[in-house]
Amino acid sequence: MKNLLILGAGTAGTMVANRLNKLLDHDEWKITIVDQNETHYYQPGFLFIPFGVYSKNDVIKPKRDFIPAGVEMIMSPIDVIEPEHNQVKLVKDHRILNYDFLVIATGTDIHPDQTPGLEEHEWRNSIHEFYTVEGAVALAKHLRTWQGGRLVVNVVENPIKCPVAPLEFLMLADWYFHEQGSRDRVELIYATPLPGAFTKPIASRHLGDILQQKSIKVAGEFQIERVDPDAKKIISYDEQEIEYDLLVSVPLNMGDALMARSGLGDELNYVPVDKHTFLSPKHSNIFVLGDAASIPTSKAGSVAHFAVDCFSENFMRYIDGLEMLPTFDGHANCFIESGFGKGLLIDFNYDVEPLPGRYPLPGVGPFALLQETEMNHWGKVMFRWMYWNLLLKGQELPLPARMTMAGKWNN
Ligand SMILES: Cc1cc2nc3c(=O)[nH]c(=O)nc-3n(C[C@H](O)[C@H](O)[C@H](O)COP(=O)(O)OP(=O)(O)OC[C@H]3O[C@@H](n4cnc5c(N)ncnc54)[C@H](O)[C@@H]3O)c2cc1C
Repeated sequence: MKNLLILGAGTAGTMVANRLNKLLDHDEWKITIVDQNETHYYQPGFLFIPFGVYSKNDVIKPKRDFIPAGVEMIMSPIDVIEPEHNQVKLVKDHRILNYDFLVIATGTDIHPDQTPGLEEHEWRNSIHEFYTVEGAVALAKHLRTWQGGRLVVNVVENPIKCPVAPLEFLMLADWYFHEQGSRDRVELIYATPLPGAFTKPIASRHLGDILQQKSIKVAGEFQIERVDPDAKKIISYDEQEIEYDLLVSVPLNMGDALMARSGLGDELNYVPVDKHTFLSPKHSNIFVLGDAASIPTSKAGSVAHFAVDCFSENFMRYIDGLEMLPTFDGHANCFIESGFGKGLLIDFNYDVEPLPGRYPLPGVGPFALLQETEMNHWGKVMFRWMYWNLLLKGQELPLPARMTMAGKWNN
C-alpha cells in the first residue's frame, strides 16, 4: 500500500481528501488526514457575525461530516515534518506517520502578539478582530452597545487571507450603522499598508471610488509599528498616528509554526512551492495547497478550490510517472459584499488583474464583475450553501479552474 498523508482538514485538505478518495485505487492507496481540532469553520461567514447577520452556529460544522469513509482521520496537533525520513510526528501519543506523498494544507492564522500594544489590556475591549470566530462573536457583542466615534480598520501586513475582507467589513459597517440610525456619529477609516484600497490598480480604483461614495476614508501606505492602547492610537514606522475609538485589526497572518520547526517555511512560515503545480522544489513528494503555500495569488477558499481541481488531475499523472503540467494559473474569484443588499465580484489570475465584465457567461452573467449588483450579493449568500454541500465534498462545479478572458472588458 502507498500512503498519502494530508496535513490539515480545513478547506483545502478536505477538498483534496474527497477528490483523491474518488480518483485513487483503494487497493493500492491509503489516505490519512490529520487535524488538531474537530470543528470546521466557514471562515467567509465570520465577516457577517459582527453585524448580526450570521451567528456562530451558521459557520461551524463537525470536520468529520466532510471526510469520506475510507479516509482515516486522526485528531492531533502535528509536531514536526521530517522530509528526509518521509515521516510526520504527531503530538498525541508521539505517533509517527509515514508517507509516500505528503499534502500540506495547514492554512494561515492571525498573530496579534506580533504587534506591540495590540493584544494587551484593551484586546477585545476597544481593540477587536473578526478573523476568528471568537473575535467575530466578541465584536458583535461590542457593536451592539457601541455609542459611535471613529472606527479604524487596520491591516498590519500583507499577505492576509481574503484581502477584500477588510473592505467588506467597512462597507458592511457603513450599512449597519445606517440601519442603526447612527451613521452620522461614526467615522470609518481604512488604514492599510497598500497605497490604495486593493493590490491591483484597476480594482483599487473601482473599490476606492465605492469607498469614497460611502464616506469611508483610506489612509494608504500606513505600516503599523505599534498600538498605544491607552491613548487609543495606532502608530506607523514613520511616526504617523491615527486615533481611534474602536480599532478593528487584521493582525499579522502567518503559516503554522510547524513549518519553522520542520525547516520548510519562509519568514512568515509559508512553504515555497511551484506556483503552477504546488510541488516543493526541495522534496519531490511534498505538495502544499491552500493558504499554507507561498505563491503570489490571494489566500482564499476560491483559490484553494481551483488549485485542488488542477492538482488532483496533475497528481494522477505524477503517480503514473508522467510530468506534471503547469495548469494552475493563480485563478482567484471573490464576491465582495458591499452592504445594502449589494455586492461586487472580482475574477483574476497571476497575469490578469480584476477587470470589469460579466461572469461566468460572457455578456450574460448573471454576475457583474467590478460592479455593485444585487445578484452579486445573492452569489455571496449562495456561496455558503455551495461551500458546505458541494465544494468541501469535492463535487465538480460548472466553473473552469483556469481563468478565462471571455466576458471581460479590457479597459
Ligand atoms: C474573515 C474571512 C473572510 C473570508 N472570506 C472569504 C471569501 O469571501 N472567499 C474566499 O474564497 N475565501 C475567504 N476567506 C479565506 C478562506 O476561508 C481561506 O483562504 C481558506 O479557508 C483556506 O483554506 P486552507 O485549507 O488553506 O486553511 P484552513 O481552512 O484555515 O485550514 C487549515 C487547517 O489546518 C489545521 N492545522 C494548522 N496547523 C496545524 C497543526 N500544527 N496541527 C494540526 N492541524 C493544524 C487547522 O486546524 C485547520 O483546520 C476568508 C477568511 C476569513 C478569515
